[in-house]
Amino acid sequence: MAEFDYYEILGIERNASDQEIKRAYRNMVRKYHPDVAEDKEKAQEEMIKVNEAYAVLSDADKRAYYDSYGQAPGAGPSGGFGGFGGFGGFGGFGDIFESFMNMGGRRDERQPRRGRDIRLGVTITLEEAYTGCTKEVEYKVHESCLTCKGKLTVEPDGVEVCPTCRGAGRVQKQINIGFGTLAQVVECPTCGGRGQKVVKPCPECKGQGVVEVTKRLDIKIPAGIETGNGLRLPDCGEPGANGGPRGSVIVIVEVAEDKRFVREGADLLYRKNITFTQAALGAEVEIEQVTGKSEKLRIPAGTQPGATFRIKGKGMPEFRSARFGDLHVVVQVIVPTKLNDKQKKLLEEFQEAGPQEAKEPSKGFFGRIHDAIFG
Ligand SMILES: [Zn+2]
Ligand SMILES: [Zn+2]
Repeated sequence: MAEFDYYEILGIERNASDQEIKRAYRNMVRKYHPDVAEDKEKAQEEMIKVNEAYAVLSDADKRAYYDSYGQAPGAGPSGGFGGFGGFGGFGGFGDIFESFMNMGGRRDERQPRRGRDIRLGVTITLEEAYTGCTKEVEYKVHESCLTCKGKLTVEPDGVEVCPTCRGAGRVQKQINIGFGTLAQVVECPTCGGRGQKVVKPCPECKGQGVVEVTKRLDIKIPAGIETGNGLRLPDCGEPGANGGPRGSVIVIVEVAEDKRFVREGADLLYRKNITFTQAALGAEVEIEQVTGKSEKLRIPAGTQPGATFRIKGKGMPEFRSARFGDLHVVVQVIVPTKLNDKQKKLLEEFQEAGPQEAKEPSKGFFGRIHDAIFG
């Protein structure tokens, strides 16, 4: 006798029909699916047994062998799961589980299913990201056909039972899983799982049951949003099946590069050009803000190129928070390229007036920028 009883694993009688085996298997797949199982590790272990039991019992020859000898054909003296060689070489349990879920168990056409999500992109300016904004998006989505009300046909004899699956919506397919073949239940390729063949399609939707329409939506984009942030709008996506809910519209936001500011999270970096006399003597300068307003900044005498000044709270608002980042001003000192006669004369006098320092004090230019951005 095998260490484990395949009939017990699937919870069926020894005289169970093929249909009962299939049903039991599907129930197990649902029961042990990682999305629903509480103990995922245990569920995975159970699924390995379930898969093996189903592989044997769904195959008439293997089942007959098992019924006679109490072990799977080809199994060693111990029988059971070790004798099958495990699932080694198959790429792990995850693969087999996924392939079952995707092709068999999960796509039961009679179950309510949520519709697909629709992903859209929207580009906004930095200023719009600062204030928050509303953007209109346009997209194509399917709606139930009003002419046939989703019945695919308007004729009473417009649909027939699908000849491939005889109305079941699913067919069995043999797949090779390394140590043998496994009967797998997949969606019927002819009818796509509906179990029906449309012979007189609805003229409006061509027998699809749905028509494509263009929709517009106003998207409220909150302040502080960053490139790559997504906004989900539930129930605006593709329609569900069998009474399932619609999918979502997911809007992925891109904040366009700004000519004036470099953004680092909620902090902003701004480059301010000043004259070399302003740098040497000190000055009060105007600093532009994202909103267009200006802010005054006091530059002390002896300011070096690359010096950075932090204006607290004048950066971007933080996403979904009441806080604001800082505005970092990097000073660039512009050396004059044209001097009038008087300026030239004065500078020559300046040069003769005393010795000048040509060595950069303390940290270098890049060191200070780094400090300004990363604190
Ligand atoms: Zn229609
Ligand atoms: Zn079919």
